[in-house]
Amino acid sequence: MSEAKSPVASGPPPGRGLYCNRTLNLKSIKVVGFDMDYTLVQYHTKDWEKRAYEHLRARLQQRGWPVGGLEFDAALVMRGLIVDIERGNILKANRFGYVKQAMHGTRMLEFDALRRTYSRTMAELALSRYRFMNTLFSLSEGCMYAQLVDLLDRGELASEHLGYRELYQIVRDNIDATHTEGELKAEVMANPERFVELDPDTVLALLDLHHAGKRLVLITNSEWEYTQAMMQFAFDRFLPAGTTWRELFEVSVCSARKPEYFERAAPLFEVVDQQLGLLRPHLGALKNHGCYLGGHATLLEQQLGVSGDEILYLGDHMFGDVHVSKSVLRWRTCLILRELEDEIAAAERLAPSQAELSRRMAEKEQLEGRYYALRLAVQRHKLGYAPSVDADLESAAKNLGVVRTALDLLDARIGPLAEKTGRALNDRWGLLMRAGNDKSQLARQVERYADVYTSRVSNFLFATPFAYLRSPRGSLPHDPQPVE
Ligand code: IMP
Ligand code: MG
Repeated sequence: MSEAKSPVASGPPPGRGLYCNRTLNLKSIKVVGFDMDYTLVQYHTKDWEKRAYEHLRARLQQRGWPVGGLEFDAALVMRGLIVDIERGNILKANRFGYVKQAMHGTRMLEFDALRRTYSRTMAELALSRYRFMNTLFSLSEGCMYAQLVDLLDRGELASEHLGYRELYQIVRDNIDATHTEGELKAEVMANPERFVELDPDTVLALLDLHHAGKRLVLITNSEWEYTQAMMQFAFDRFLPAGTTWRELFEVSVCSARKPEYFERAAPLFEVVDQQLGLLRPHLGALKNHGCYLGGHATLLEQQLGVSGDEILYLGDHMFGDVHVSKSVLRWRTCLILRELEDEIAAAERLAPSQAELSRRMAEKEQLEGRYYALRLAVQRHKLGYAPSVDADLESAAKNLGVVRTALDLLDARIGPLAEKTGRALNDRWGLLMRAGNDKSQLARQVERYADVYTSRVSNFLFATPFAYLRSPRGSLPHDPQPVE
């Protein structure tokens, strides 16, 4: 391959880097594990989720619910939001769990209502009241729940005597059934070209890793039949003639039941007839290129003869793939965050407004300092308990008014700028990784559990299998400010 065409030499296109939270030397990784859905196989999310939503809607219609007029809105919610099932709200929280935005049903809460509801309440993900939207598969569920809360509030689901919690459980059970009962998946398998985004570079990235001596494994929650159909469609056409996706992986595990797969033992079955999906309980050594169902991660580690930090696992599910494999087994982790390319592009478009906002905020801080000093001077003058820095009360009071007016003018310029930055990426919710001026809850999760994060597996092409990925130094509030 010529130097000019090499993806390595030309570097990653914008937004397609490997972003590193914890230094990771790919040379010390022996096994690379992959999730399938939204990791190795990317879907056209709007199409996939629209169909999931429509199947869910049909199920609810069968209960007699008046949902025929509801339509999927892919922008109503996004990954990283939190469903508050006690109040029928969807929330965006910052990295500390403070709720910065909330939507009741499909209506955003105004500032006062937000304060009244959440000023004393943190969105603690460990509480059963809060459900984190972990993956792009959460969009249909979140959208439907928000729309049903509107119906419930209007009394249109009255016959059910439902609360917001029960309503959530019904949506959850039905979306669960939509995924597991086969009709939706049969539709995807019958028309994969409608749902799957083909990417030859993903296959090339895996070939690079394989030929660099990494042992590859596949661990997916999808059923065998669906896994076979998707992997065949997305991979086989790009592999050297006569090989299939199965030869690329030393072991393939379907119906893995992550996150339990990382936590506790479960029986292992071998897929003995790959066409019919026939299963046989399996004991003993795993076969090279074998396909299995179930089992558990410790067994896999033993069989492969590697320990946690020699395994890098790539997945898109914040909890099931990344959080649990990291906290229980100390695997090295890479989160696939498909939305990242749009997020980075939106942040770049926003950069001039963001820079102006930062300048105005710095101005505001200075003016506020002046304002507070004058207030203190007036207070000391009036009460006479301490010497005042400003001898003339009258001029201090006058200056106070002048500075207040300047601050009001500045606020009038800051307001629209802040609003604009809050609408980047998603009109309602803004950026995925930001909440107000801070990092979002999603960003915090990513930072904590994903050693690296990137928009797609094929971005590994630009890094090569040999890269030493270094985390940035990280900033602290007391760091010296860069000189402008
Ligand atoms: P993975 O990402 O390769 O582990 O596979 C995810 C699998 O979980 C896919 O087969 C999805 O259809 C399935 N899935 C996603 N959300 C749900 C759910 O809410 N209930 C049951 N299965 C789900
Ligand atoms: Mg997945």
